Amino acid sequence: MLEGKTAVVTGASRGIGRAVALELAEQGAQVIINYNGSLESAEQVKSEIEAKGGKAEAVQCNVADFEQCSDFISKVIKDFGKIDILVNNAGITRDGLLMKMSEKDFDDVIAINLKGTFNTMRAAARQMIRQRSGRIINMSSVVGICGNAGQVNYAASKAGVIGMTKSAAKELASRGVTINAVAPGFVETEMTAALSDKVKEEAVKQIPMGRFGKPEDIAKTVAFLASEEAGYITGQVIQADGGMAI
Ligand code: NAP
Repeated sequence: MLEGKTAVVTGASRGIGRAVALELAEQGAQVIINYNGSLESAEQVKSEIEAKGGKAEAVQCNVADFEQCSDFISKVIKDFGKIDILVNNAGITRDGLLMKMSEKDFDDVIAINLKGTFNTMRAAARQMIRQRSGRIINMSSVVGICGNAGQVNYAASKAGVIGMTKSAAKELASRGVTINAVAPGFVETEMTAALSDKVKEEAVKQIPMGRFGKPEDIAKTVAFLASEEAGYITGQVIQADGGMAI
C-alpha cells in the first residue's frame, strides 16, 4: 500500500499512464498526472481519482524539454514537499522502415522516450537522494529488447531506457533509491489501436498467453515496483508481455 506517498506519472492522460495513475491512487498515493497536450483527458483522470476519495493534480509538461522538466519537478517538490515515486511513462511512436524514416521522426522519438526519461530522472534524483529514498520506474518495451522491423527509432529509445535504468540504478542504490524498467509487450491503448487488423492478428500469434495486455496489467507491475515490498530490486527489467519475449 502506498498511503502518504507522492507519485509523479508522466504521460498519465491516457493508456498505460492513466492506468498507472489510477492504480497508485487506489493504493493510497497522491498522484501528479503529467500530460503534454491532452488537458481534458488529464482532468478526467484527476476527477476519477478524486471521486474515489484520492488526491491528484494534473500538470502540463513536455518531457522532451529539459527546462520544463526541471520546473515541473521543482513545482511538485514545492507543492507536495517530496517525491517518492517517479514513473517515466510518456512515449510516442513514429514508425517507418529504416530506408524511409525521416530524421525528424527519429529525433522526436528519442527526444520524448529517451531524453524525456533522462530529464525527469535528473530533476527528481536530487530530491530522492536528499530523502534517502525513492522509486523510479521507467517504461521500456519488449521492442527495446528484441527489436522490431519498422521501429528503429522506437527500439533505440527503449533499449536506451534500459541502459539508462541500469546505470542510474548503480549510481543511486546506496542512497536508498531503486530504479527499474518495465517492458510491456503489446498493450491495448491508442498507441496500438492505429495498427491494422492484420498486424494485430500476427502479433497475437507471438504471445504465448494468447491475448494482448491491458493497461491494468502493466499498472499492477509498476505498482509492485513502487511498493515497499520491492525494496531490494533495482536495475531490473520486468517484462509484462504475456510471454511474448521469453
Ligand atoms: P498512449 O496511449 O499513446 O499515451 C501516451 C501518453 O504519453 C499520453 O498520456 C501523452 O500525453 C503522453 N505524452 C506523449 N508525448 C508527451 C510529451 N512530450 N510530454 C509529456 N507527455 C507526453 O501510449 P501508451 O500505449 O499508453 O504507452 C505508454 C508507454 O508505454 C509509452 O512509453 C510506450 O512506449 C510504452 N509501451 C506501450 C506499449 C503498447 O503496446 N501500448 C508497449 C510497450 C511499451 P498527451 O496525450 O497529453 O500528449
